[in-house]
Amino acid sequence: MNQPVKITNHLPTAELQALDAAHHMHPFTDNSALAKKGARIMKSAKGVWLTDTEGHKIIDGMAGLWCVNIGYGRKELADAASSQMLELAYYNTFFQTSHIPAIALAAKIAEVAPEGMNHIFFAGSGSEANDTNIRMVRRYWDIKGQPEKRVIIARKNGYHGSTMGGGSLGGMSGIHAHGGKIAGITHIGEPNWWEQGGDMTPEDFGLMRAQELEKAILEIGVENVAAFIGEPIQGAGGVIVPPSTYWPEIQRIVDKYGILLIADEVITGFGRTGNWFGSTTFGIKPHIMTIAKGLSSGYQPIGGSIVCDEVAEVMGSSGDFNHGYTYSGHPVAAAVALENIRIMQDEGIIDHVRNVAHPYLMQKWQGLTEHPMVGEARLVGLMGSIALTPDKASRAKFAAETGTVGYKCRERCFANDLIMRHVGDRMIISPPLVITPEEIDILIERAWKSIDECY
Ligand code: PLP
Repeated sequence: MNQPVKITNHLPTAELQALDAAHHMHPFTDNSALAKKGARIMKSAKGVWLTDTEGHKIIDGMAGLWCVNIGYGRKELADAASSQMLELAYYNTFFQTSHIPAIALAAKIAEVAPEGMNHIFFAGSGSEANDTNIRMVRRYWDIKGQPEKRVIIARKNGYHGSTMGGGSLGGMSGIHAHGGKIAGITHIGEPNWWEQGGDMTPEDFGLMRAQELEKAILEIGVENVAAFIGEPIQGAGGVIVPPSTYWPEIQRIVDKYGILLIADEVITGFGRTGNWFGSTTFGIKPHIMTIAKGLSSGYQPIGGSIVCDEVAEVMGSSGDFNHGYTYSGHPVAAAVALENIRIMQDEGIIDHVRNVAHPYLMQKWQGLTEHPMVGEARLVGLMGSIALTPDKASRAKFAAETGTVGYKCRERCFANDLIMRHVGDRMIISPPLVITPEEIDILIERAWKSIDECY
């Protein structure tokens, strides 16, 4: 039996760290290493600024986990949650009932979604939504009388969540190594020209990588393939912006073989790339889009699948779809998401990304390539990365194990009160969409300083 615990907002950081180490298992973390060092404990936030328990003001270059799109501390979202909790804190949408927030949010999402994508199946997260997608595409083909169509083709280093389904769709070997992966999922190469393109032009490399989909379909047999899933820009894999040839070729192949296309828009949705959805930015025409994160700007856990008319019609034509979550369309989460979208629309946040924040950040981001250790800077909307390299001309890798320099750089950013993430030796940003030019200046200044301290 442990001692009764009284946690107040004023406990010293060291005591909080000790309790954290004793009782809290952090996701994607070496918990014993963290216990020795102590977690940095965030206490409050406003706009793009976090404050930790030591009072440091940290600029959040990652919008939390690519999700706090409208920035922190918006009272309207707290008010939406509080009113909805008092009005109807919970009810399900399973057994012939519905409620106003789920109805309103589904209709609102259909309003901003690409044409013909008018149906929403709610989940509690991006991982859950991708689990829905696995079952939905297989059920779709069952109903169409082709039950052998079960294989889903995905990409190496794609990230689709960490449930068994989402983790299996993702192409990250580290995740597969912990708990295995479900059957019927195949991974093809990712369109990462900078790291893997060798002497090829980006355009040729993009085509080659897309054509791996056609090869896989022919090897597996089109009669066995249900769907292809991809993020318009691979986020957790390193902000891999595909060459311009990639998505048009994927679309051609998907159309030619009549397989379903799932665009995982968990990061790229809700303004991140300068449009409501990354599919619009890249001219992709998906049958299903996975959403989460920016849907509520991270203020409430909520995700879902936006489903096109044809797939929804088939799904609705043959009795129950035996799938759903207690919190599918949770009223409080839905009310918050609805308010989040209202703010995005009323305040023209996507226009701000397109006309103000992206052009300004692009210029500054490209400026980082003047640093001798920065080989390439990518940015689409407000989602970007830079490659750290010992030799720009040859796009060389560091002699140290991949990720060592990136890790060091991330640590320097942390010490300089800037949150940036690293994937291998690539540094990533995805700030709140409301970031201002003045805040971009601070972010870039701290990023340059941190890179320089690793040089
Ligand atoms: N899909 C993509 C593209 C993601 O980036 C993520 C999370 O980062 C997920 C799915 C999983 O979402 P969640 O963590 O909400 O389960």
